[in-house]
Amino acid sequence: MPIATVNPANGETLKTYEAMGEEELERRLQLAEATFRTYRTAHVVDRGRLMLQAANLLDEDRDDIARVMTTEMGKPVVQARAEAAKCAKAMRWYAEHAEELLADEEPAAADVTDSGASRVRVRYRPLGPVLAVMPWNFPLWQVIRFAAPALMAGNVGLLKHASNVPQTALYLEDLFHRAGFTEGCFQTLLIGSGAVDEILRDERVKAATLTGSEPAGRAVASTAGRMVKKTVLELGGSDPFVVMPSADLDRAARVAVTARVQNNGQSCIAAKRFIVHSDVYDAFAERFTEGMKALRVGDPLEEETEVGPLASEQGRADLEELVDDATRSGARVLCGGERPDGPGWYYPPTVLAGLTREMRIHREEAFGPVATLYRAADLDEAVLIANDSPFGLSSNVWTRDQAEEDRFVRDLEAGGVFVNGMTASHPALPFGGVKRSGYGRELSGHGIREFCNITTVWHG
Ligand code: NDP
Repeated sequence: MPIATVNPANGETLKTYEAMGEEELERRLQLAEATFRTYRTAHVVDRGRLMLQAANLLDEDRDDIARVMTTEMGKPVVQARAEAAKCAKAMRWYAEHAEELLADEEPAAADVTDSGASRVRVRYRPLGPVLAVMPWNFPLWQVIRFAAPALMAGNVGLLKHASNVPQTALYLEDLFHRAGFTEGCFQTLLIGSGAVDEILRDERVKAATLTGSEPAGRAVASTAGRMVKKTVLELGGSDPFVVMPSADLDRAARVAVTARVQNNGQSCIAAKRFIVHSDVYDAFAERFTEGMKALRVGDPLEEETEVGPLASEQGRADLEELVDDATRSGARVLCGGERPDGPGWYYPPTVLAGLTREMRIHREEAFGPVATLYRAADLDEAVLIANDSPFGLSSNVWTRDQAEEDRFVRDLEAGGVFVNGMTASHPALPFGGVKRSGYGRELSGHGIREFCNITTVWHG
């Protein structure tokens, strides 16, 4: 895939970049290693000052970078601005909380007396240069979610961003430099996916994080495994959205629409499978489908647009194949389901019903505004369908019955259970999945400690 900005709203190539050559990559790896030697000793309060400055600059740049993101990957510009604002918030959160999150821990004296220690501490030390392989869907947020905690912990970052968002990738490097971080603290490597393996093998790279598809995660994790390097993986999701009879149906149907189509439906934590109790299935299906039909689809640079084009032609073709496979096997189309004529990689908000286990869309991630509806006879069946997926990122449940809620929280195989609301990430809450959605956690104290050397300091 060329490294280029191609506007998904009309297919026009706006800017193409040469991949960095061997010499330049070597220079950047050397710089990362050299920078780490000094940056690791910087006080967390000083790092925090730089991070706050980066957050302030990002706030100032919000409108401009939002337009760049929209032009590179097609998200509605209103959502692009919200993404930039969320990044600044996460940067501030880590700037303000890192000291406390990384403070030395002292186990209770009584617990360690038999170790012969007069004193024991646990210290969080940085690991070194961390490679971040990132996707295009939230081109700022996915990177900041890694970079804010990693840099606050004293690591340095090497970003291999998706090939279709090079301008956002270069903006990020520039943002950290302008904020005062020395050049090697955060560098963007303009490379294709084929160049990742060699960089990951390099001894100077100590760990890696990847957000993206399962094949990409598998490739990075297997190389890292052979090199015995730590990885965090945030892969796809096919989150369930379960609606029980006691739920506020109007709210559930309204939120369901947003949960499915946010970011043009290209979000790992979007609700994708809507599992509705028989007693309220018809009422929910009607309201939800009406909501999906009413969405304003169009030019993502327009303020009123709610759903823009998919990020790539291939992404639209993949989604279309999933829908066609389902309808060929008997799924019913309640709305959408046909790509429009004309320029741009648009696909309409679509609702499918009558799904079976054999259909690909039942097991694969639908990365676009396509919802699947399932009817569940009771709570047991709802849990069964919800867990009948290779993924386990997050989940949404709608109920006002405490016993049902307890059951979902106990039994859903996912890294999150959101009750009467849609899944959203927040700097203070751990984020990540189980099963083939990946492993490790981002955000919160759990996220910042993923790339730390958790060191036991023992005094005799
Ligand atoms: P990819 O997983 O291919 O891309 C994500 C990142 O990984 C990009 O930087 C990409 O680089 C890189 N990459 C791809 N293959 C490899 C590899 N073998 N070794 C190292 N790095 C690699 O996502 P796509 O854009 O192709 O999307 C395909 C599907 O992935 C989507 O339909 C969706 O299901 C899922 N996805 C999930 C995301 C999530 O948030 N969970 C985000 C994006 C995609 P390059 O761009 O140069 O290929």
